[in-house]
Amino acid sequence: MIPTSRGAASLARYEHLYIGGQWVAPQDGGQIESIDPSTGKPWALVAYGGKRDVDRAVAAAREAFNGPWRKMPGWERAALLRRLAEIYQRRAPELAILESRDSGRALREARADVGAHHNWYFWFASLCDKIWGRTIPMDDSVHVFTSREPLGVVGAITPWNAPLLTTTWKLGPALASGCTVVLKPAELTPVTALELGRIIEEAGFPPGVVNVVPGYGKDGAGEHLVSHPGVDKIAFTGEGDTARAILKTGAHTLKRFSFELGGKAPHILFADADIEQALNAATSSAWAVCGQSCALGSRVLVERPIYDRVVDEFALRAASVRVGMPLDEATHMGPQASDEQLKKTLSYIEIGRAEGAELVAGGRRIEHGDMAQGYFVEPTVFAGARNDMRLAREEIFGPVATIIPFDGEAEAVAIANDTSYGLTAGLWSRDVGRAHRVAAQIRAGIVWVNTYRYIRWSTPYGGFKSSGWGRENGIEALDNYLETRTTVISTTGQFPNPYIN
Ligand code: NDP
Repeated sequence: MIPTSRGAASLARYEHLYIGGQWVAPQDGGQIESIDPSTGKPWALVAYGGKRDVDRAVAAAREAFNGPWRKMPGWERAALLRRLAEIYQRRAPELAILESRDSGRALREARADVGAHHNWYFWFASLCDKIWGRTIPMDDSVHVFTSREPLGVVGAITPWNAPLLTTTWKLGPALASGCTVVLKPAELTPVTALELGRIIEEAGFPPGVVNVVPGYGKDGAGEHLVSHPGVDKIAFTGEGDTARAILKTGAHTLKRFSFELGGKAPHILFADADIEQALNAATSSAWAVCGQSCALGSRVLVERPIYDRVVDEFALRAASVRVGMPLDEATHMGPQASDEQLKKTLSYIEIGRAEGAELVAGGRRIEHGDMAQGYFVEPTVFAGARNDMRLAREEIFGPVATIIPFDGEAEAVAIANDTSYGLTAGLWSRDVGRAHRVAAQIRAGIVWVNTYRYIRWSTPYGGFKSSGWGRENGIEALDNYLETRTTVISTTGQFPNPYIN
């Protein structure tokens, strides 16, 4: 986002922040223009908050946490989450359009993604009144049980690649756990977060349970949220270096952190695979979201006997991807979300060339017709790559597939694990023994076998190694938002305890 300057009569307007159940003007922020990545021109005028706005939002979230939200029984929280889910489902078609405009994502893809989010809210609604601890049997005269308590005020900081999805993955479990939330969306894609504020309002959540404060990350609302002593936890999706900065900024508060970070997923194609299915998955996951997703199989590891065929197919299929304006129903792949991201992708294409990988498809910015002013790049394929190339080691976040040949299981596993990341992985083989053997050796939070990008509200998702801390989705997601209290009751009233003084 860039500070607004020019006359902007035709822009969509989102001029207020959502704090304490009210739509309020920023106190020390302002208005910024959000850029449509398909045209490179502003399309919306959006309020952004500064430190005082974050302070207000945190205070409202704290008041709600100590007041109505904390006192509300789980089944009543569940009813509110179900209401949120219903409204979300009803509004999904327009949310998908807004997401497409703000992030540049192809509408058909945004529709499929956003059209499923209500399932998360319904599912987490069903957990609200099932948050309980354990009884721990003791062999002396004490009764010991654990209970789970909400952490408190959560700062949710989200990225631009899948703004609504990454928000949904945080909001569902945070609210189910009984936490309150201050949401800071990415500066590039603030619009859908504010729309979500409207849904929260319509659903009838008590004021302050969810607050939405768009703003800048570094030196802005995001950083202030992280250092704020009134925030108990930061739930973050984005880049590893940002997570490192967040840890430093928030260290003095000893608040909790969960991180959903980058990936460089190995997508392993063994020669005994159903090649057609494997190709469908491997090619579509290389270019989905214009390559801007941490889950994508950006390192395609191919067993030598099928290597030439796979490379040829990748090149053919790259050329058949329909790149175009995101709102056009025919478009498969839109632009990169920002000029900066486009430049990053183009620079990696140059790096790949210089490193000696073979460019077999794409490789250029698209500069003709409607797309001339937008941030479009061709689906790109490098073959003959080695895993020690930067192309194979660093997260590009563009539609660039890197194909690496291998011989046999042991080499596939070695290459797959030779990365600082560990978020997702895929493997294709008809040999069930091999599938189990290889899957069990891969250091990643999720391994897909004979499928790819299968993600549901109930399936834990998160990273090994530098791909993150904690899990989103599934019952495990609640752990991000709960503390455990152990209660020990002597049934005889005797003291001292004989084992620990
Ligand atoms: P960032 O990690 O920079 O940003 C993610 C969020 O954090 C944004 O809301 C951002 O605000 C905020 N933020 C940035 N700096 C700080 C800070 N110091 N304190 C608090 N909040 C902060 O990711 P980008 O969106 O810039 O994307 C950069 C790269 O990150 C991509 O190229 C990709 O490699 C990776 N990425 C990975 C994702 C994943 O799902 N694993 C998702 C998105 C990106 P602001 O928008 O104002 O900068």
